[in-house]
Amino acid sequence: MNSRTKALFAAHALLPDGWRTNVLLEWNAAGTLVAVAPDVRDVPADATHAAGPVIPGMPNLHSHAFQRAMAGLTEYRANPADSFWSWRDLMYRFAARITPDTLGAIARWLYVEMLKAGYTSVCEFHYVHHAADGKCHAHPAELAQYVVDAAAETGIGMTMLPVLYQYSGFNAQPPRDDQRRFINTTGEFLDLLRALRDARPEHHALRYGVAPHSLRAVSEASLHALIEGFDAMSPGAPVHIHVAEQTAEVEASVAALGARPVQWLLDRFDVNARWCLVHATHVDAKETHALASSGAIAGLCLTTEANLGDGIFPAMDYLDARGAFGIGSDSHIGVDWRAELRLLEYGQRLLRRQRNVLASPRTAHVADRLFQGALEGGARATGRAVGALEEGARADWIVLDAEHPNLAEQTSTTWLSSVVFCEHGETPVRDVFVGGRCVVHERRHRDEARHYADYRNALSRLLADA
Ligand code: ZN
Repeated sequence: MNSRTKALFAAHALLPDGWRTNVLLEWNAAGTLVAVAPDVRDVPADATHAAGPVIPGMPNLHSHAFQRAMAGLTEYRANPADSFWSWRDLMYRFAARITPDTLGAIARWLYVEMLKAGYTSVCEFHYVHHAADGKCHAHPAELAQYVVDAAAETGIGMTMLPVLYQYSGFNAQPPRDDQRRFINTTGEFLDLLRALRDARPEHHALRYGVAPHSLRAVSEASLHALIEGFDAMSPGAPVHIHVAEQTAEVEASVAALGARPVQWLLDRFDVNARWCLVHATHVDAKETHALASSGAIAGLCLTTEANLGDGIFPAMDYLDARGAFGIGSDSHIGVDWRAELRLLEYGQRLLRRQRNVLASPRTAHVADRLFQGALEGGARATGRAVGALEEGARADWIVLDAEHPNLAEQTSTTWLSSVVFCEHGETPVRDVFVGGRCVVHERRHRDEARHYADYRNALSRLLADA
């Protein structure tokens, strides 16, 4: 360890080849790991000692930050046919009230919650661009800037994905009044993205991608123009899209485009590892295999998909076909990667009336397989060097509490199983490091009192006369 690097010694750490003992992690001033060595005998005197087992921090590949403030407010039956679509009407009413200031406060508190849960990166699918009357702000990316700043202030790594939203439905149906804050032409959108990148340039903890909202909201021509325009700025950077969340959306796609959405996209675009298909929920057997072999990431948001009654992704067939996936907290009805992974498996158990469905011949412990898969796919979706404790990756990790009743007296063989599947008491996530900085210590974020006060204040304004 030289004067410009820092080091952490962990008695147990989860490296790409599995659990190892006596691991020394060293990182540089930029927050990037420069050495990861197991079986270390001579621990440098100035190395910090991890308070428990160390595992990589989890990327959260799908977030709409403002929706955090609505969690719990839509859990009543507004009409007998309550569905995703009636929820969306309520969500639009809420989106109409968001200001730059309240959005910033919500995002800061949300990111504190993410960090405390052990999410160390977030992909923000950001579509509220304009003022409440639909007019462009003086700075066209003002709202997005508040979200980017929230990530920097709280310490979470970010992939900002401004959203291109143009239509209210297939065949270029004109946008609804309550969508006017989201709408841009492709040219306006690329200008917005340019302005944002100029105001907040990329760095180790910030990357930009783009998010065509869905096949409902863009046309084939605008999707091509978007990717071409974006590639001129940032070739190969991430592209995320909502793809097949609802059966009504699949039916509308078949009627308008003559194909199911995932199939249509795979047939017309070079869908590869830079793509993240969020809510690839409704895929038939052919699409499942084609998506898996494309290298794209299936963006699964299990708690939100359950909350909205979306449906169940064919996870077993997709993983058998070696499909890549990651997880996201999306509407933030919950902010906990452990719940996402648990529900991914539980959906399959309930469907198939079997246990340990998503285990593989190589990895008998479901949680180990799902944790590793979500790290790899989630990392790829961020377009950043995250998701593994290895040289060249960001120094992002979780220190587990080995004294937690669910981990005590166990060995590394079952630690992840207990972390994911046991739901007793406080979280076993004890400390969280991002870019080598300890941002959560003994389950407390360093600035959580201040961010919570700001969040309360924003809520009181948003919910007044709602
Ligand atoms: Zn979404």
